Order: sequence, then structure tokens, then C-alpha cells
Amino acid sequence: MNQLDASQFTILIADDNRSLRDLLTVSIETRGFQVITAENGLEALNLLRTQIVHLMLLDIMMPVMNGYEVLQYMQSDPELSRTPVIVMSALTDMDNLVRCVELGAEDCLFKPINTSLFWARVNAALEKKRLQDQERIFTEELATLQQVDRALNKTLDLETVANITLNWAMQQTGSIRGAIGRWVDSRFELWANSGLETAVFTQEAACFAETLHQKQIKTTPSDNKPHRLCAPIQRDDQTAETPLGIIVLECEWPFSQKDAHFLSRLCNHAAIAINNAQLHAQIQAANRSKTEFVAMVSHELKSPLTVMRSYLELFTIVNDGNLTEKQSSFINTMEESVTRMTTLISELDDITRIETNNIKLDLGPVLLPDVVSMVFNALRNQFAAKQQTCTVTIPVDLPPLWADHKRMVQILHNILSNAHKYVPAQGKISVTAMPVFEDGQSFVKIAVQDNGIGIPEKDQRKIFTQFFRTDQDGVTAVAGTGLGLNITKMLVELQGGKIWFTSELHKGSTFYFLLPSAPSTLNHQLPIIDKQAANGAMLA
Ligand code: ADP
Repeated sequence: MNQLDASQFTILIADDNRSLRDLLTVSIETRGFQVITAENGLEALNLLRTQIVHLMLLDIMMPVMNGYEVLQYMQSDPELSRTPVIVMSALTDMDNLVRCVELGAEDCLFKPINTSLFWARVNAALEKKRLQDQERIFTEELATLQQVDRALNKTLDLETVANITLNWAMQQTGSIRGAIGRWVDSRFELWANSGLETAVFTQEAACFAETLHQKQIKTTPSDNKPHRLCAPIQRDDQTAETPLGIIVLECEWPFSQKDAHFLSRLCNHAAIAINNAQLHAQIQAANRSKTEFVAMVSHELKSPLTVMRSYLELFTIVNDGNLTEKQSSFINTMEESVTRMTTLISELDDITRIETNNIKLDLGPVLLPDVVSMVFNALRNQFAAKQQTCTVTIPVDLPPLWADHKRMVQILHNILSNAHKYVPAQGKISVTAMPVFEDGQSFVKIAVQDNGIGIPEKDQRKIFTQFFRTDQDGVTAVAGTGLGLNITKMLVELQGGKIWFTSELHKGSTFYFLLPSAPSTLNHQLPIIDKQAANGAMLA
């Protein structure tokens, strides 16, 4: 039994024969084990309930409660059934042996007891118990860490991660106070604290920081009260680096090896979550800076652009009819460039507004044919220039949308102008709409289909990200910012809807978007327009 430290094991002898009890006690204690004794079954059960017992040597024929009854009782109690029992019996017949094994006994020894056989069985039973306990602790720890991970995975907030970690650390080790923090620029930053004095944390963490190169859990000597434990929060695979943080716990009794083992695993899991939370905070800060920069740039560009547009208009009016063909073409190019820049600035403005939650939606009932007519009027010349055909099919009884009219025009304009840009000359575009019912709510589903260049499969999941444009010839040759669909998606979602698409390269694309329909009681407040007139209106 080379792995067992005998002094860590307690053996219970339950036998009514005093001289056998004494004899076994002396013999077992000589080998370094702890021994406790009981005169009958009832006494044995009481000891099992109140003390840690690693093995019981049980006589069968005893007063008050016999060995069979003890085994039966132990079998019904999940906690007690974990203690191995070696039955010592004067009854040598096979039926008794079978009965003991059926009742959960680990092994049987017949009296008078053979010493060599006795020690072989005791050692084997203790070794088996040690391995079973180890496995149970490991399984319990794994289940706990799975729960911790589930909780940690739900958040990217540093304080919440630290609080979850601290709560589990305290709960599992029975600590009464604790804190988590880190050492920054010669001072401590607390992330979570549960009753620990800041001075205690600072002192312990500072002292621990000095020995950080050891990167191990440190506990105060067992005669120092309250007992304290310091553990580095770091990933197993990053032991060479400075820990992300330090956890300090305070307990009324000494921390066990099991506590230390659990804490090192917990700190490893917490380190991953803390790492993620810190990265998330950095990304958010970078995103904030980007939004602030974009807002500043678009604001600063607005005034010079307005001046340029005004002077261009003035120049055209003043020189009406006096410009050569070449000069007119230069002016047109300048006007187109100013328009492109104005579009870009207004898109950047929208993104800033949406990302900073500064967008105000004026929600109300919106008639789709009305929106379609406005967009078509704006794009009519462009469709005509490429001889594209655009058909519209809207059911006469389509319910109105519950949306922001101005933003609905913007959404449809973005999608239709994309269709116009990415469909070759003489191509076909169609707009259809229908009412749908999803998850107990009424929506209007709008589809814009084209037979254009399509979107390569490899690019399809990036299509709604900011500044993304595919690298097809039909795209790079056309002016664009890669912002339109990103804004469109955010606007659709802000209004409680969703957007998606299907596309096949060289065959075409269909963009769908779903928006809530207006509550039916509001329909009668709408102006009466000729819904039929909108159908087919966009035939160029
Ligand atoms: P932009 O059109 O200004 O480039 P968008 O955000 O509106 O930006 O669109 C992003 C990209 O998605 C486009 O550059 C293009 O590659 C692709 N795309 C959008 N609509 C279509 C379409 N109807 N057919 C083919 N590709 C499209």
C-alpha cells in the first residue's frame, strides 16, 4: 500500500467481543491507522454518521442491531453506503456470505482471522475507497466547474465575472470573506469584494505579489487566525505571465488541499472569462473612439460640402448657356462627386446616431404603396438610363406597416438602388409584398428580387458588415461605400423587423425584409390612396 498514508485513515471495528476488539485495535494502531470501536450495530451506525470512517470491520452476530441490519441500513443511505465494509463472521456457510455481499459488503473474513489475509483485504479495501473518493471529488468538481462556466459564459462584464468567481470560491471553500482585484501601477484595483477589509486585501495581495513568481496558491500557517488564502487568477497555459488578478479568501478553519485544488481550477476558468471581459471592454472603447471620430469627421465635412454645392449651383446659373461641352462635363463630374460625398456623410451620420442610440424613430402606420411610389420617383431616371424593368405587386388589402415613414423610404431606396447598381442593363427587378403571421404577431414581408450579378457564396455572411463590398467586376466598377446594407439592417431591426437574402452568382438576388404591421384598429385613420395605382407603377 505504497500510496496510502495510514494516519489519514480511520477504521471502525464493530464487534461485541471485547477481547477481539482490543486485539484488532492494537494490531491496526501499530500500523499507524486511527481506530474507533463500537459494541453493537446501533453504536456503529451512530459513529458512521458523526465521524469520517474509511473502512468498517463488522461482526454479524451482535446484540441490539446485528451486522445484517447495519448493512441493510447503510445500503438505504447514499452517504453511508460509500463506506466499505469487511464482514468478520463466525458463520462460515455460503448462504451467509452471499447475503452479506448482496447487502453491499466489500469482503468477508472468517473467524478466527488469518492475519495475512486480514491485511491484504484491509489494504485492498482502503485503496479502492481512496480511488473511489478521488473519482467522486473529481466528478463533483467537474460538475461545479461546468456550472461556473455556464454562469461565466453568460457575461462579458468584468465586475460580474469577478463576482461570480468570488461567490463560487467562497461557497465551495466555506469562506466567510473574500475579494478579487489586481495590482495596477503600484496600487490595487478591487473588482469584487464580499466583506473583506480593503486593507487586508491590499496587504495580502502585496505580500503575495512579491512571491508571484511562484504562481502558486498560498495559505497562512494553520495556527494564524483567521485563515487566509491567496490565489493567482491565471490561465494554466500562461504561467510565465503576470496573473490577471488575485483572489484573497478568509475562513474560520484551515483551507484543505481539496480547497486549494478547486481554487486553482476555478482561477484558471475565471482567467479565461476575465481575459474575454477585458478584451470586450477594449473593443468597446475602440468602437467608441471610432464612433466619436466618425461623428467629428462627418460634422466637419458638412459645411465645406454645402459651400461647394452652393458655388457649383451659382456657377451653373451665372454661366447658363455659356459653357462649352467640356466645361459642362467638368461641372457634372464635380456635382456627382459632391453628391457621393454627401451620401457618404449622411450614411456615417446614420451609423453614429444608431450606434450611440441617438436615433429617433417616428413610428406610425405606413402604407407600402406610398413608400414604393416615392422611391420609384427618386430612382425613375436611373432605371430608365439602364433600361431596367421594375414591377411592383402589392395586394390591395395589404395592412399598413407600423414603421417610421422616412426610414422606410430610406430602407427601400437602399435595396432598390443596389438592385439598380448590381443588375446589368435591361435587367429585371420586382417588388412584392404579402402579410405574414409569425410567433403570434402580424408582419408584412417585402421581397425585392433581381436577376443581376448575384453575391458569391464566400461573401454572403459578410454582406451586412460595415464597409464590406464584394470584389466582383460589377461591384468595383460602381460607386459605393459598403455602408448601405449595414444601415438598412440596423434600421429594420430597430423597427422590430428582420432582413435576410438569398443569392446565386450570375443569376440574381432576393432581399427580404419583415416589418410589423400596424394594429388593425389604426387602419381607418389612414388617408385613402389608390393602392391599385402603385402596382406596376415602376415599369420603366
Ligand atoms: P454599396 O452598394 O454602397 O457597396 P451596400 O452596403 O449597399 O454598399 O452593399 C454591400 C455590398 O453587397 C455591395 O457592395 C455588393 O457587393 C453587395 N450587394 C448588395 N446588393 C446586391 C445585389 N442586389 N446584387 C448583388 N450584390 C449586391
